[in-house]
Amino acid sequence: MPASTTNRFPLLGEPIALDLANTRVRRQGETVDLLDTPAALAAWLRYEHARLPWAGTVTGGDVTAVRELRDAVVVLLDAAQQHTRAPASALHSLNAALADGRATSLQLGWTDTQPHLVAPRAHTRRSVLLHALAADAIALLTGPDAKRLRQCAHPDCILRFVATNPRRRWCCDATCGNRARVARHYLRHREAH
Ligand SMILES: [Zn+2]
Repeated sequence: MPASTTNRFPLLGEPIALDLANTRVRRQGETVDLLDTPAALAAWLRYEHARLPWAGTVTGGDVTAVRELRDAVVVLLDAAQQHTRAPASALHSLNAALADGRATSLQLGWTDTQPHLVAPRAHTRRSVLLHALAADAIALLTGPDAKRLRQCAHPDCILRFVATNPRRRWCCDATCGNRARVARHYLRHREAH
């Protein structure tokens, strides 16, 4: 199976801004961009459909725009975690997504029984998407979870999560936690001989 279809999007279910940041992963020491094609972005949007309304096709322009905003979010998350000044370009990218007037067409719909987000029309949907991603990033960076932002402790992993349990060190105990335990065991074993 090609790498692009195995474990495509790890660690979904964090705040959307982190799920977005986590579309860049490390595999064997290389940073891999999982949002590499319109089909890949479409797949990610399907995973996130409850939180990010989207209907219709995804274009190459959508991919470029989402990746640009994601890279700005990653820079801002890094600056927040390192307590440093954020680069103006990253702030500008985020604020531009929020200021886009076409993004105001977000609407609430209602089925017979429950509320739902109405998917935006074609000419506004990219703006609505970028606005939703940027708004979540702001809520995360300035909200109570900001001090719980963490990156996986495994040296070959860059996934981020909100550590609701302060003892959490790994993105996923079954993968990175286990990899670290195996490495420690190997070292102990080697030192014993
Ligand atoms: Zn990890």
